[in-house]
Amino acid sequence: MNEQYHLETLAVRAGTQVTEFGENSEALFLNSSFKFKNAAQAAARFSGSESGNIYSRFTNPTVTMFQDKLAALEGAEQCVATASGMAAILACVMGLCQAGDHIVASRSLFGTTVQLFSNIMKKWGLEVTFVALTDLDAWQAATQKNTKLLFAETPSNPLTEVADIEALSVIAHHASALLVIDNCFCTPALQQPLKLGADIIIHSATKYIDGQGRVLGGAVLGSKAVMEPVYGYLRTAGVTMSAFNAWVFLKGLETLQVRMEAHASRALALANWLEQQPRVSRVHYPGLASHPQYALAAKQQRLGGGIVSFEVVPRADQTLQAAAWEVIDATQMISITANLGDVKSTITHPATTTHCRVSPEARLAAGIHDNLVRIAVGLEHIEDLKNDLMLLSSPIG
Ligand SMILES: *Cc1c(COP(=O)(O)O)cnc(C)c1O
Repeated sequence: MNEQYHLETLAVRAGTQVTEFGENSEALFLNSSFKFKNAAQAAARFSGSESGNIYSRFTNPTVTMFQDKLAALEGAEQCVATASGMAAILACVMGLCQAGDHIVASRSLFGTTVQLFSNIMKKWGLEVTFVALTDLDAWQAATQKNTKLLFAETPSNPLTEVADIEALSVIAHHASALLVIDNCFCTPALQQPLKLGADIIIHSATKYIDGQGRVLGGAVLGSKAVMEPVYGYLRTAGVTMSAFNAWVFLKGLETLQVRMEAHASRALALANWLEQQPRVSRVHYPGLASHPQYALAAKQQRLGGGIVSFEVVPRADQTLQAAAWEVIDATQMISITANLGDVKSTITHPATTTHCRVSPEARLAAGIHDNLVRIAVGLEHIEDLKNDLMLLSSPIG
């Protein structure tokens, strides 16, 4: 489809294929295999001399439509859809690295990504160095001869730190490595990392791409050459996205732009309100002028995104953790769950949920204190969200 179309138009129109029935909404192909006209065609499909579907572990028309739509939105040559966000990271690393290779990764990554790198990949002979997301000198210093990937999330979870994608891409390319950006928090609606110099994008489609908390999925995107071994791994290892999930994500992508704008406008309003509350000592949100990388975020993101975190001032008799838990437990409407990217706002205590497996020392070094609360702002009315957090308005005492 014409790349000159605007993002909203691509989200609705790109990637669509229509069958002989002329359906206007994309069809769901719930079939594992595809049949051939004759033995010669089967042979041609298997040899690759004729393109077309063989088996849904390799390709499926509904999954292909999802891949083509997401690739159009990210401005990528190719998208490889996977069973989950973690499967996307696995396929990326397994496809592109081998034993003896080295990865430089941000230490502010999704908790399970840290586990994958430090526990599982280590067993297979990959070396990983973790560095502070915003410390460009540390990234530079950590690169080695055998560095294959630089891996970062921006904005980060849960502190919404912002990495300079363009600067990281220069460091990566100088080291003959590839820059991988997990674009989960922004989605292409708010940030397009390939246009800033990144080589590979990772998505947990489970989050904003679905947007309504229903199914798991992921994606890896990049040039055809870089995606070839990633797809090769997926096709063989079977970490494939299900056709049903792809169909849900296709519908999710159609409304991505309007949803992300609505999430971000509520998140900004909530972040501004939180900054005024007596029981809040600090608010982390890239759209606030008080954010340390406000200017950078304004340059590389269209809006601040939907995630806000804040630190609660404890009462005299309270521990930091008790103060955070009190705020969470006082909510009546917001869902207490660690998921994000849902129309329903969610609230969580990172230190005891998403980051509970990170050692207390590492958590503190990363700036994740015990009084930190994270909200993934949904699409409820802003006044109802504020009302649910009214405890923060009470005077300290
Ligand atoms: C959730 C998440 C993942 C993992 O995705 P799953 O779909 O849960 O496997 C990876 N990165 C980020 C930033 C996430 O939030």
